[in-house]
Amino acid sequence: MSSSPVMPSHLDELIAALRCLPGVGPKSAQRMAYHLLQRDRAGALRLAQSMLLAVDNIRHCSKCNNFSEHDVCNLCASPKRDAGVLCVVEMPADLLMMEQTQCYRGHYFVLMGRLSPLDGIGINELPFDRLVRRVQEHPHEGKLAEVILATNFTVEGDATAHYLATLLQAQDVKVSRIARGLPVGGELEQVDSGTLAQAVLERREVIS
Ligand SMILES: [Zn+2]
Repeated sequence: MSSSPVMPSHLDELIAALRCLPGVGPKSAQRMAYHLLQRDRAGALRLAQSMLLAVDNIRHCSKCNNFSEHDVCNLCASPKRDAGVLCVVEMPADLLMMEQTQCYRGHYFVLMGRLSPLDGIGINELPFDRLVRRVQEHPHEGKLAEVILATNFTVEGDATAHYLATLLQAQDVKVSRIARGLPVGGELEQVDSGTLAQAVLERREVIS
């Protein structure tokens, strides 16, 4: 956004920067900037500082790809988890949903997205190669016996699960998909933990 004669350039820059947030257009960005400067300068500083700290300190766990402040996250490092099962989810929020069901004690792999050609997300944009390596390198606690595909029941989530099933076919591991107890078009984030727990318990092996 170029500097206008009626607006200070730092304000222009703030409005332009806010537009990096998803779904924020020029009008919303302007409203947010006015709000922060006029009504909540302390909030603005907190936002700026927490963004700096997060960007500097948060990386991806080298095992599960979830956000982590360490090379290996606490969940992956925990000896209490069952290293024989790996659950693949789309987003960190889905991992949290799975944890809330309290019916799953295995490990995870977080894709940080799903196949969505319309949004420009193809097989090269997701960490499938890292997932395959993760499946191949058997953890020292024991052999990985099963990969559970827990992507959403949306068109994109199903396509991602289908691709993963094909990809993992060559590996010496059972591949299963959580059951269709979830509504069609359903996202894990929006179902209650009882329904999700049932879908995990009733998962079926994928034969591709
Ligand atoms: Zn991890």
